[in-house]
Amino acid sequence: MKLVVATRSRQKMREIRKILAVVPGLEVLDLDEAGVAVDPAEEDLEPFDTFEENARSKASWFHARSGLPTVADDSGIVVDALDGAPGVRSKRFSPEEGLTGLDRDRANNAYLVERLADVPPEERTAHYVCVAVLVDGDAEPLVCRGEAAGLILDAPRGENGFGYDPFFFDPDLGCTFAEISRDEKNERSHRGRAFRALAAALLKRR
Ligand code: IMP
Repeated sequence: MKLVVATRSRQKMREIRKILAVVPGLEVLDLDEAGVAVDPAEEDLEPFDTFEENARSKASWFHARSGLPTVADDSGIVVDALDGAPGVRSKRFSPEEGLTGLDRDRANNAYLVERLADVPPEERTAHYVCVAVLVDGDAEPLVCRGEAAGLILDAPRGENGFGYDPFFFDPDLGCTFAEISRDEKNERSHRGRAFRALAAALLKRR
């Protein structure tokens, strides 16, 4: 079986390939390998209020273009003291406009810390969420969810990872997601968990 993974991120692709490698006979393709050229419309595929709807929307759109079974994910961070924000808006949480890459990460983190300024450390609970949805023709989409629980710090720790990782403290590990290796993060992360659930579901189907 061929499976397209609908992400343009090299890092995500590498992580996901590693996880799906446990499924014998599964040929994992990135969007280039599936012949899907970059399209500006890709920026607008996640307008919904749930991770699942966004992932489904992205998977369906790329499935229509690739003609192959396609999985897409949506992820973000849910902060309890902010009533679940930034959630599905994690990428564009900061009101500052026009930022990209590391500048956007920095602005998002600064805004998160600012919003939590009056919240005591023990109440800064949060979890990362990742929902992966596999769309294959008319079959009911396969939905796999992964979560990772932590606390938001008010100062960054560590150089690894991306996005909110330097502020995301994992109490079981005693450090942030930016202080662990990529493999360790894969073990514990929301994305690792969602895609391992997907791999398990694909193994069961065989
Ligand atoms: P995406 O849906 O995977 O593109 O993630 C949306 C946004 O959620 C990212 O731009 C990050 O701000 C945040 N996010 C998702 N996963 C992670 C993670 O593993 N570490 C840090 N930030 C993340």
